[in-house]
Amino acid sequence: MQKITDNPFLKYAAPGISGLHPYIPGKPISELEREFGICDSVKLASNENPLGASPKAKAAVAALLDELARYPDGGGFELRTALAKFHSIEAEAVTLGNGSNDVLDLIARTFLAPGSEAIFSEHAFAVYPICTQAVGATSRVAPAHDGSAGPRFGHNLKAMRELVGEKTRVVFIANPNNPTGTWLPKNELLEFVDGLPSQVIVVVDEAYTEYVEEGAYPDATQWLGQYPNLIVTRTFSKAYGLAALRVGYGLSHPDVAELLNRVRQPFNVNAPALAAALATLGDQAHIRQSVAVNRTGMAQLIAGFEKLGLDYIPSVGNFVCVDVGRSGAEVDAKLLREGCITRPIGGYGMPQHLRITVGLEDENQRFLQTLESVLK
Ligand SMILES: *Cc1c(COP(=O)(O)O)cnc(C)c1O
Repeated sequence: MQKITDNPFLKYAAPGISGLHPYIPGKPISELEREFGICDSVKLASNENPLGASPKAKAAVAALLDELARYPDGGGFELRTALAKFHSIEAEAVTLGNGSNDVLDLIARTFLAPGSEAIFSEHAFAVYPICTQAVGATSRVAPAHDGSAGPRFGHNLKAMRELVGEKTRVVFIANPNNPTGTWLPKNELLEFVDGLPSQVIVVVDEAYTEYVEEGAYPDATQWLGQYPNLIVTRTFSKAYGLAALRVGYGLSHPDVAELLNRVRQPFNVNAPALAAALATLGDQAHIRQSVAVNRTGMAQLIAGFEKLGLDYIPSVGNFVCVDVGRSGAEVDAKLLREGCITRPIGGYGMPQHLRITVGLEDENQRFLQTLESVLK
């Protein structure tokens, strides 16, 4: 592929594009198997639900096959109504997205522009800088905790607060954060939200909320009534197991949602996605099962790391970062040849860590064995 710096069209692109790097997704299994001529590989790279989607979601998609010629419901009436009921909030508070990444992008396009700033943490989710820079706004990155006053690699809210100024329009917080798996307790996060000027939009990204089993972990949707500048994002891609369909949502004050919905593409969520999300919301048993599988899988991975003498970052999500003590990219390349797809995170400023998604027992086992042989 052409090097970005050689691109002759760059000088005509909108401001902000020159500093952008495309998001690097986990390698698809099909691509790996094509490249190395192997089969039976395992993918623990994209925080997908190893149990797959709920049978109810699959049935809902199958029932739509005769409707594929029709446009979806552009307002997403049924799903918005169901989400409103699920969260005990008004339907006008819900903004549907093509994945929650789409909602993050809508927030950037609605509230950020050249001259304004977005704040997020070091090691935070990669989509925050992308959507900030794509609209020509400036990213302000707060250093993460060094381990003295909070969990190492975790968001340092004091440092983030210090960056808030005249130009700040948006603050992005992932709770828990991807890729670190670190999380913020209720008292700390609430104090931060409460202390922000009311014109600063604060986004609490709860993509992994279903997995968290900590008593002090907050549900930021509970604070929406009190803070009109708060947006909480959720997704059907992770615990709900619908990553392929791309559906997520934001919850906010209806006035904020009204602005986001002005910017939103009319049919941003497709009909199978709307139907599957609606069906899976009604299958909370699938979520409970997924959380249980994650709990045992996480324990299995951690026990494996301890046996290998490897440091890891305690995580409340469905993934965990392990310090391989050498170049993560090199270890990743070796793992790939053995059919294990994980995620090197040098791009997140963590060159010796790999992020591993919690899989099924045999997938975790296969990964741990391969890791052991690769590190030998
Ligand atoms: C995966 C992820 C998302 C959402 O992804 P979508 O598939 O677009 O819903 C959002 N935030 C974080 C922190 C994530 O890890």
